[in-house]
Amino acid sequence: MTDVSHISPRDKAEILAQALPYIRKFHGKTMVIKYGGNAMTDPALQADFAEDVVLLKLVGINPVVVHGGGPQIETALKRLGKKGEFIQGMRVTDAETMEIVEWVLAGEVQQDIVGLINQAGGKAVGLTGRDGGLIRAQKLKLLDNADPSIEHDVGQVGDIVSIDPSVVKALQDDAFIPVISPIGFGENNESYNINADVVAAKLATVLKAEKLMMLTNISGVLNKAGELLTDLTARQIDALFADGTLSGGMLPKIAGALDAAKSGVNSVHIIDGRVPHVLLLEILTDQAFGTMIRSH
Ligand code: ADP
Ligand code: MG
Repeated sequence: MTDVSHISPRDKAEILAQALPYIRKFHGKTMVIKYGGNAMTDPALQADFAEDVVLLKLVGINPVVVHGGGPQIETALKRLGKKGEFIQGMRVTDAETMEIVEWVLAGEVQQDIVGLINQAGGKAVGLTGRDGGLIRAQKLKLLDNADPSIEHDVGQVGDIVSIDPSVVKALQDDAFIPVISPIGFGENNESYNINADVVAAKLATVLKAEKLMMLTNISGVLNKAGELLTDLTARQIDALFADGTLSGGMLPKIAGALDAAKSGVNSVHIIDGRVPHVLLLEILTDQAFGTMIRSH
């Protein structure tokens, strides 16, 4: 924990009081948080994240966490002698990989996050898309970015068919903090691996969230020169797609973010998960981190 003993009690009280307008504004509102990248692997950042989520809940804001787990899946696959393969930012998921994805995400990563939040004094509950019929999915038809007549087979990667948020609402109406693994289920109860950014974005829309915040392992969306773009409109995003500035995991992230912004989520941010307490800074101060995505 950062040493704040040099700050006088009076200044501490002043800092707390300055959060009041934000707390008032966001009281009772839902905030969907995509938790991924370094914030999820660095122990100090993990603890900051858990504290932020609990504090938000205790001041009357409703955080809903959707987590990723790329690095953890990668480690598990490697241990079993399998190598991850990606097409246009999507993990190619055969049946064996799906089994590993499911146990790493729902068994390990999700439960670690639940534990962290509970340790910080919250009451987190882990869910997958199967719980309460939360996320219905079907096999993703992935068309080639350059030539849409080509379809890529990425195996059990899912496309969201529908989200039934009733289980999430029931939990958040109580004192609970939902922590959701991005796994959907199909007509025959088969599992699908869904990009966590896509789940977070859709869930934010369905829950009519006030904010969608995607924590990542980079300062935000960068231009070709590597400079941070603090604000992006739909038109500017189209241009970034077209000129190849975006690649890999940033593709589903920005697409999801833009969808959410266009579907009525008030503010959508891709933020730097490497900054300690970035959630509190973003929500309860006038500081901005990363890239804000606007619908127009
Ligand atoms: P996560 O989903 O855990 O946040 P991803 O690896 O899926 O992380 O997505 C973030 C990554 O996207 C960045 O680390 C970066 O390597 C990549 N990326 C591709 N294009 C850009 C871009 N224009 N600006 C920023 N990051 C980009
Ligand atoms: Mg990603």
